[in-house]
Amino acid sequence: MRRVIKFIGVFFTIFIIVAGIYFISEKVRFNAVVIHHSASSVDNYQSIAEFHRRERGWGDAAYHLILSNGSTEIPLGFLEATGRYRYLAPSVATKNMYYNLRAIHICVVGDYDKHQMPERVQAALIDVAHQLQEKYWIADDKIMFHRDCSSSSCPGRLITKEKLQRWLASETSRCPILLKMQHEKIIGGAWNLVPLAGRAVAGFGGQAFGLLRSLLLTGPLPGQPLA
Ligand SMILES: [Zn+2]
Repeated sequence: MRRVIKFIGVFFTIFIIVAGIYFISEKVRFNAVVIHHSASSVDNYQSIAEFHRRERGWGDAAYHLILSNGSTEIPLGFLEATGRYRYLAPSVATKNMYYNLRAIHICVVGDYDKHQMPERVQAALIDVAHQLQEKYWIADDKIMFHRDCSSSSCPGRLITKEKLQRWLASETSRCPILLKMQHEKIIGGAWNLVPLAGRAVAGFGGQAFGLLRSLLLTGPLPGQPLA
């Protein structure tokens, strides 16, 4: 009888430790969202990945997530996850190593140096930002632009901090429910494909890197977070 109680005790302890690692490794993996634009009018995951493989020699698109502007067969506002998101790999989208590792990089298709972001795309972007914040416990001041991390006009001169602040504060209900569900599926499903060991390494590895960096380097981190 005592052996049975001991076995149950050990089993539950292991269960709680594994469940704890599973839960916390997700929350510590990312600490920021970095927004980009494609600087093109027609694009999607497939074409961006092809371009980055061919022109830059990267194994996948530089970003974690790509938001459609409806210029291809991917409907407007639909989200696509690249291999980097599915396997929690670092991005190569900026010259800032810290935010390449610690941030989720999302590319909105469109050229926002030249055109205003259509309202429906903007509503979809804000819904994605809110869902990512909730899933990974990301603070409001960590919704950033590429140009906060390294020298670039990305995500376009027509997208300003004032606009972003206003959009973030506005109702997310402007995003249609079917789109919200599509975002939820992409954002939620991808991470679950990663086995526990990989998840723990990716989650705590990122955290360890951030800690090491703050111990070794003094002064603020590169890039100005949203004021
Ligand atoms: Zn960018």
